[in-house]
Amino acid sequence: MTDTTPAIEGEFICVVCPNGCAIDAEFIPGDSPKLIAFSGAKCPRGEKWLRQEIESPMRTIATSVLVRDGDYICASVRTKSPIPLAKVRDVMNSLRGMEIDAPVRVGQTIIVGPAGTDTEIIATRDVAAIMPI
Ligand code: SF4
Repeated sequence: MTDTTPAIEGEFICVVCPNGCAIDAEFIPGDSPKLIAFSGAKCPRGEKWLRQEIESPMRTIATSVLVRDGDYICASVRTKSPIPLAKVRDVMNSLRGMEIDAPVRVGQTIIVGPAGTDTEIIATRDVAAIMPI
């Protein structure tokens, strides 16, 4: 994409609050997308959200990993903070097939910096260790 890339228009639904404003946006697409104009946001938070969604979209991942010797076979996990949308697949791949040892505690760090991001994967449920018989 170059400086001559034509702008395109699209409608976005703001997810910041339950109002769910429909925002019409005009933006330059490509590797360095840029918001040019918009209308329909009822407050400044909508503009902030729209600019990030177009220019640098972020996502939070929630999934689960397998647990060895636990009273449950897997533990739910999530990213501690949002990551770039472009990194979601890489982070999911880094979790695929992963097994951790019980016990697992809510808030426990499972991975630091998955796929080169600056977040952590943390557990969101407890899994107790099974006592040997
Ligand atoms: S633009 Fe403002 S009022 Fe509308 S959904 Fe977003 S945060 Fe809510």
